[in-house]
Amino acid sequence: MVSQSPETKTAREAPVRAPSAVPVDDTVLPFEVNALDLRGRLTRLGPALDDILTKHDYPAPVGKLLGEAIVLTTLLGTSLKFEGRFILQTRTDGPVSFLVVDFKSPDRMRAYARFDAKRLKDGQTSGELLGKGHLAMTIDQGADMSRYQGLVALHGGNLEEAAHEYFLRSEQIPTRVRLAVGEEWRGGEAGKHRWRAGGMLLQFLPKAPERARQADLHPGDAPEGTVHHTVAEDDAWVEGQSLIGTVEDVELIDPNLSGERLLYRLFHERGVRVFSPQPLQAKCSCSRDAVAAMLKSFDPKDRADMVKDNKVVVTCEFCSSVYEFTPQEAGVEKT
Ligand SMILES: [Zn+2]
Repeated sequence: MVSQSPETKTAREAPVRAPSAVPVDDTVLPFEVNALDLRGRLTRLGPALDDILTKHDYPAPVGKLLGEAIVLTTLLGTSLKFEGRFILQTRTDGPVSFLVVDFKSPDRMRAYARFDAKRLKDGQTSGELLGKGHLAMTIDQGADMSRYQGLVALHGGNLEEAAHEYFLRSEQIPTRVRLAVGEEWRGGEAGKHRWRAGGMLLQFLPKAPERARQADLHPGDAPEGTVHHTVAEDDAWVEGQSLIGTVEDVELIDPNLSGERLLYRLFHERGVRVFSPQPLQAKCSCSRDAVAAMLKSFDPKDRADMVKDNKVVVTCEFCSSVYEFTPQEAGVEKT
C-alpha cells in the first residue's frame, strides 16, 4: 500500500481546462511541460509584424528574414525579468548586411534591415541572404547598469541554427527554436497581402544539472580517426526535441489555429500548462525631441552639412518617420 503525503492531496496544479480555440495575434505565450522538465514560449505575430515590415516595403526575401529575426527577438526578449532592452543585430557579408531588432520590455518592438538589392536572387535561403559574419545579442538594463553582450558566428546558416549554437556555447541550456514567417494573401483586393509569423522556444531545465548534458559540437577539423566521446542526451530532452521537430511552419503561422491548441496538439500526452499571454506591439521610441537632441550632439559643421533646401530632414531608420527642422531649430549657426 502506498501512503500519500499531504501535499499530493492538495490541488496545487492550475485547474485543467480545454485549450482556448480563439487565436490571439501579437502575443507570446509561456508554457511548461513539467513531466519532461521543459519550458518554452510560443510567439504568434500578425498586425504588429505586418506594420513593421510594410512600413519599410522590403523585397519579400528581406522582409521574411527580418521577420525571423523579430520572432527570435520576441522569444528571447520577453524573458527579461526587469525593465530594459534586448537588441539582436547581425553584421554579415551577404546581400542582407545588417539586421537590427530592438525590443523594449515589456512589449515594444522595432526593427530594420540594410541590404543590397542588386545581390538579391530568387530562391536564396535565409543563410545565403545573411552570409558570413556574426549575430550579437545585447541586454541593456539602462544607463547605470552593466550591458551584457553575447556573440555567435554566422557561417552561412540560418537564425535558428545561430540560436542553437548560442545556447549550447554560452548559456549551456539545451534549447531548440523554431521560426516561421509567411505572407497571407487576402481574396478580393488584388495583390493585397499581410505578413504573419510564429515561433517557438523550448528549453530543458531539469532540477539535476547533470541531466542537461548535451551532445558535443561537431568536432570540426579534428584529424580523421580521432575518437571523440559521445554523450547520451537525457530521454526527456530527446522527446522534447522530437516533439518540437514535428512543428510545421504552417502551424506556427496559421491564423485560425490558436496558440493553446497548437501547444495541446504537441504536448497533450505529457500535459502542458500555459501561462497568461504577454502582448506585443510595434512601436518606435523615436520622437521629435529625441531627434532634436541628437542633432544638437553633432559637430556644428556636420549639422550645417545636413541643411538642404533650407531645412534639415531626419528619417528614423526604424519606423520611417520623417522629422523636419528649420536650420535654426536644428541648431545651425547663421553664416
Ligand atoms: Zn522611429
